[in-house]
Amino acid sequence: MKVREIVDKVKSKQIKAQDVLAYYLEEIKKKNSINAIVEVFDDVFEQAKKIDEKVNRDDKLGKLAGVPILIKDNIFLEGKKASCASFFLKDYTAQYTSTVVKKLLDEDAIIIGRANMDEFAMGSSTEKTVHGLCRNALDKDRVPGGSSGGSAAAVASGMVPCALGTDTGGSIRQPSSYNGVVGIKPTYGRVSRYGVIAFASSLDQVGPITQDVEDNALLLSILSGQDNNDDTTLSNNVPNYVESCEKDAKGLRVGIVKQVKEIMKESTHFDKLVTFLKNNGIEIVEVEIPNIKLCLPVYYILAPAEATSNLGRFEGIRCSRRAENCKDVNEIYKKSRTQGFGDEVKRRIMLGNFVLSSGYFDAYYNKAKKIQQMIKKEFSSAFKSCDAIIMPTTYGEAFKIGEFKNPVDMYMEDIFTIPANIAGIPAISIPYACGENKLPLGLQIFADKLQEEKIYNLANYIEKNYTEGK
Ligand code: GLN
Repeated sequence: MKVREIVDKVKSKQIKAQDVLAYYLEEIKKKNSINAIVEVFDDVFEQAKKIDEKVNRDDKLGKLAGVPILIKDNIFLEGKKASCASFFLKDYTAQYTSTVVKKLLDEDAIIIGRANMDEFAMGSSTEKTVHGLCRNALDKDRVPGGSSGGSAAAVASGMVPCALGTDTGGSIRQPSSYNGVVGIKPTYGRVSRYGVIAFASSLDQVGPITQDVEDNALLLSILSGQDNNDDTTLSNNVPNYVESCEKDAKGLRVGIVKQVKEIMKESTHFDKLVTFLKNNGIEIVEVEIPNIKLCLPVYYILAPAEATSNLGRFEGIRCSRRAENCKDVNEIYKKSRTQGFGDEVKRRIMLGNFVLSSGYFDAYYNKAKKIQQMIKKEFSSAFKSCDAIIMPTTYGEAFKIGEFKNPVDMYMEDIFTIPANIAGIPAISIPYACGENKLPLGLQIFADKLQEEKIYNLANYIEKNYTEGK
């Protein structure tokens, strides 16, 4: 069921929250061999019972009454584990509840459990996780994408109606694309990061993964807003994004980036969609982001640099797992970090330390920051001639498990998603076509800062009206 169907049925007493929950728990039992969900919380029935009691008393109900929601394993719910899929935090229990989860609970949602992910959200395949790899919901030999692979695969296989993910360089959109679901990375600062384990703080955002655009809009309307516990959150009014879905899309100007067209490996599906849009009163304009290709190298300097600093807090003394038989404090740090972090995380820490070290700081970190400014300007000027920009989410369909032997080759896969994080702008991925293996392909829609309304407007229009590719 869609999120809004559950809410309608629970509110109108057609179905009990406990029955909704029981249905999904049964689905999880049947389908979780893909390992998308790593824990179902032990108090879910109590949560559901409380909602049913509210319904029986005719209390005012929240906008997500009775909806089971899965959270990525890097988001805090007090008293529940949050391990970031790392051996280092395997037994860590959250000491407080994140703002995003609090907002969901305030609307009477049920937090059903934790989703698998790549360790510390670094990766594009959910293969590097202490919980064991997760599989694509539609093809067991393929990856679900990452790092929010568990969240997307769980939604796609119908084990949960929706989930939360986080996106630093594409981790919501790429797995959404690979599993045929809808995921948005909001404008930087639209959604609070309080209680979410940091990867690269200037790029991280939380966002919803859903079965369709309207559910996504509903969830983002709830998750957005200023938070005193996260200074980077924006005070701007939160629009009703569900209303944006209903608007007429005719007259929207949609941009296609010249430099993206040049690097697409396959564009038949994309061109078909463009023709459809043109034929339906949507103006297509060519825009230029001359340095868009630099987003990828810029990201792989800035993100590791920030990660290095954020991960410095894990030392085997406070919340992270301590190595045994250490002589002194230095050995505790060294051994615990050596044992606690996986290879990919260590690679990022080394890369981050390198680009931040004196002598290289200007050549790498500062230079990357300058290029970031340039890219931001290029996007702003592109948005003077269009309302939204479209491009594919990925080169193609989900890749095979174990396909990438060289980590840098996997980094290259993030080429289309990273620009939104570098520019701080919102971008959604919606399924729009099928590839040669009959697996979904995702379309990305970008808009300027805080213009999520335009994204939902166009996304919903394409979802409802464009059927040729599916
Ligand atoms: N794949 C990218 C990386 O490995 C993005 C990850 C993310 O968005 N968290 O860093």
